[in-house]
Amino acid sequence: TKYILVSGGVVSGIGKGVIASSTGLLLKTTGLKVTAIKIDPYMNIDAGTMRPQEHGEVYVLNDGGEVDLDLGNYERYLNVTLSRDNNITTGKIYREVIEKEIVPHVTNAIQDWIERVSKIPVDETGEEPDVCIVELGGTVGDIESAPFIEAMRQFQFRVGHENFALIHVSLVPDMHGEQKTKPTQTTVHALRGLGLLPDLIACRLIVQKPLEPATKSKISMFCHVAPEQVVGVHDVSSVYHVPLLLQSQGIIQYLQKRLNLASIKITPQMQ
Ligand code: ADP
Repeated sequence: TKYILVSGGVVSGIGKGVIASSTGLLLKTTGLKVTAIKIDPYMNIDAGTMRPQEHGEVYVLNDGGEVDLDLGNYERYLNVTLSRDNNITTGKIYREVIEKEIVPHVTNAIQDWIERVSKIPVDETGEEPDVCIVELGGTVGDIESAPFIEAMRQFQFRVGHENFALIHVSLVPDMHGEQKTKPTQTTVHALRGLGLLPDLIACRLIVQKPLEPATKSKISMFCHVAPEQVVGVHDVSSVYHVPLLLQSQGIIQYLQKRLNLASIKITPQMQ
């Protein structure tokens, strides 16, 4: 299985869910079987007990799991059926560690969970998925997400470099027409300090204006990645345009090369 972690920086609600789902959809169009896991680093066992006005509506899965709305995005974009285990919370991990009375390596419990759930068939083929998108809720640097960040740092070695890629979603504020890169530099710096190196930096602009070439070069230069690893995601009229926006910037080709996706045998799927 190939894993693509989607993390976020600067502010929450930046569009990680949409970028994660869109990336999954693009890989699905190449014939790969894609599944998804959402990590919500809060103590609640699930979203059913949280105030909807503050945390958003609850999405209910076929197995009755009350989960984050992002799982709804995954099911619609990827045409899959997910289970409650596809939504990991701190509460669920701690409960498992406590109930099993295992040596309390929370980071191992997280990695085992991801590995187990990533292999569960989610579409009509009944086969193991080729790619698992893992979206980490919140922003890098939150105390709540620390065990998950550390687990993913270890995970990249558990599964190997060519099986793990990281997309970091960052905010590029537009100040009276000037696109600012400093928040992105700061969050990428924090990410690297935690041992996670971004393969793609997705720059969210909360305006309907694309990322400028000069901004892209600056982010490439100061965040220590090649220009092809910087993609812009500006506000679009429908979130269903985001896959095309990413595709036009070559992310399929980048991920194919980075994760050696050509090595995966594609079996014809029913539509
Ligand atoms: P996160 O997962 O980071 O919390 P979401 O993916 O749930 O963020 O997106 C937050 C909100 O922003 C959603 O209402 C979504 O529809 C909207 N949104 C995300 N990306 C875009 C975009 N490129 N253009 C317009 N709206 C967007």
